Amino acid sequence: MSEMELRVSKIKDGTVIDHITGGHALDVAKILGITGREKRVITIAINVPSKLFKTKDIVKIEGRELNPQEVHKIALLAPHATINIIRGYKVVKKQAVKLPKVIENIIKCANPACISNSNEPVRAKFYVDSEEPLLLKCHYCGFIIEKKDVLEQF
Ligand SMILES: [Zn+2]
Repeated sequence: MSEMELRVSKIKDGTVIDHITGGHALDVAKILGITGREKRVITIAINVPSKLFKTKDIVKIEGRELNPQEVHKIALLAPHATINIIRGYKVVKKQAVKLPKVIENIIKCANPACISNSNEPVRAKFYVDSEEPLLLKCHYCGFIIEKKDVLEQF
């Protein structure tokens, strides 16, 4: 199989995550809990030449669709990604991920002294200061968390 055939090979049912920022496919795989030991076909392409961006990554997962929580997590690390749901070899849904301005309940504050990390009934809440590089500001303590802090939590 040529490189091009491998890249464009179709899947029957599942999800294709396209336009992932080049070099970030493995982070996306981590978010989705992909270990490589599940009994499904997963194709990961890294640093594919792209017209829109210099390079992009692609993750294809057979037999699995993503839930909204997973889509939000992907938006944190790959704000330009598009998610294609495939059924019977056809794209039935195409969705561009979008990072909301306010992020609640997906990640925790990296400041151990933050009230959101205490036993108080307070839900973690962040404002997006910057998408790329990712900078999130805690609503409660003003602590700034970065991509590496987010990755440590997934
Ligand atoms: Zn905080």
